Amino acid sequence: MEKKIEGSCLCGNVKISSDGEPQMTAVCHCKSCQKQTGTAFSIVVGVAEHSLQVEGVEFLGEFAGQGDSGSKVSRKFCKNCGSPVFSVLEAFPGAAFIKAGTLEDTSWLAPNMHMWCDASQPWISFPEDIPCFAKNPVSE
Ligand SMILES: [Zn+2]
Ligand SMILES: [Zn+2]
Repeated sequence: MEKKIEGSCLCGNVKISSDGEPQMTAVCHCKSCQKQTGTAFSIVVGVAEHSLQVEGVEFLGEFAGQGDSGSKVSRKFCKNCGSPVFSVLEAFPGAAFIKAGTLEDTSWLAPNMHMWCDASQPWISFPEDIPCFAKNPVSE
């Protein structure tokens, strides 16, 4: 199945694409992702940062903060519509994490891990066939 990585924010001003192979698809339950997305978790697709192409960079805003791990996280969003688009994490150098909801085609998406499960909302149930990390896979 072709894993086509092409996406945009809600208003379409920021477009992203990558011809790289997705390195991971993770569901992140950390409190920062809950706050940033305004919902229960993020679904992120990790690609090599150098493979990520961004159109409409003039609309791209950055919130540089700390992740739940305490390491630096640069969260990129569209300044026009507010959609989170991708993040770059100090804990995962060389990777960019695209918010999966921005992708045009999500038919191939299959998360291969859950992380920050300790911070998850209480109604979430976790699958038994993929790893569920209490924090992030790097800290364990
Ligand atoms: Zn936008
Ligand atoms: Zn997170």
